[in-house]
Amino acid sequence: MKIPAIDLGTCTECEGCIEVCPSVFRKNPATGYVEVVDLENYPKEEVDEAIKNCPADSIHWE
Ligand code: SF4
Repeated sequence: MKIPAIDLGTCTECEGCIEVCPSVFRKNPATGYVEVVDLENYPKEEVDEAIKNCPADSIHWE
């Protein structure tokens, strides 16, 4: 199964992915960084939308 991943080296913390796909992306309250929630299955279309919209091109499937 493919899992979305965020490259924190390029992520600008714009939170756009959280708006597009809040079931998958969230802000980690402890670190302040955006992270991927652990899920059994990821909603492909929503994640693809977040990937497409990420201004820093920081999200990919792995
Ligand atoms: S949309 Fe991209 S740059 Fe913005 S918070 Fe998400 S991963 Fe980071």
